[in-house]
Amino acid sequence: MHAVVKRYRRPGAELEEVAKPTAGKGEVLVETRMTSICGTDVHIWDWNHWAQTRLKKLPIIFGHEMCGEVVEVGKGVKSVKVGDMVSAETHIVDGTCYQCRTGRMHICRDMKILGVDTDGVFAEYVKLPEMNARKLPPKVGPRLGSLLEPLGNATFTVMPNDCISDVKGKNVVVTGAGPIGLMAVAILKSVGAKQVIVSELGSEKVRFSLAKKVGADMILDAGMGTEALVKSVKEATDGNGADVCLEMSGAAV
Ligand SMILES: [Zn+2]
Ligand SMILES: [Zn+2]
Repeated sequence: MHAVVKRYRRPGAELEEVAKPTAGKGEVLVETRMTSICGTDVHIWDWNHWAQTRLKKLPIIFGHEMCGEVVEVGKGVKSVKVGDMVSAETHIVDGTCYQCRTGRMHICRDMKILGVDTDGVFAEYVKLPEMNARKLPPKVGPRLGSLLEPLGNATFTVMPNDCISDVKGKNVVVTGAGPIGLMAVAILKSVGAKQVIVSELGSEKVRFSLAKKVGADMILDAGMGTEALVKSVKEATDGNGADVCLEMSGAAV
């Protein structure tokens, strides 16, 4: 099969012909229908400091955001069957360590990230543990199905405790209108945030218009500087300032 492989410790990647994986016990083989490019993949492509220190073992097929069709299931797999459309949950846990056994799989001692620690999704086929192949309802097509991982990041940032009242009826500032910031704006509006104020660089015209489209009540040019931004937010909130602030820009303070 074809795969995008990070083979060398330098910028770029190789398009290679590699062996097609098979589903072992408790695993499923998924034929990739759609993938999306995460910031993580850009780091790996650029081979920046983060990638150089984070990627332990090369070569590796990278990419982790995907939607695809199950084409093979290994022994013991029950939750999905051949023909199901699935999205990849990107955190691969051992299920046996102390943290996993006590209901805290998100901090598994042996956590592996798909496409960073194990072969990922920029390939015609990818092998996933059953738990990581999440079945999609028919109305979720491949384009949306591929974006569930960043959507999950946005959802968790908006409601880290699964609690709508943290943001419902609140004035919320979102700094940064990149893909995940925009998803956060849409989530905030759908769960009833009172006012969503976005800051983004004025030069990012597309992001400005997308922020409007997904429901931002006010979009401020981050280039105006911290003091002016704070003043604008206070003016929009009866002098109270924001109830909640979500940092989605990744820019240095
Ligand atoms: Zn991602
Ligand atoms: Zn574990």
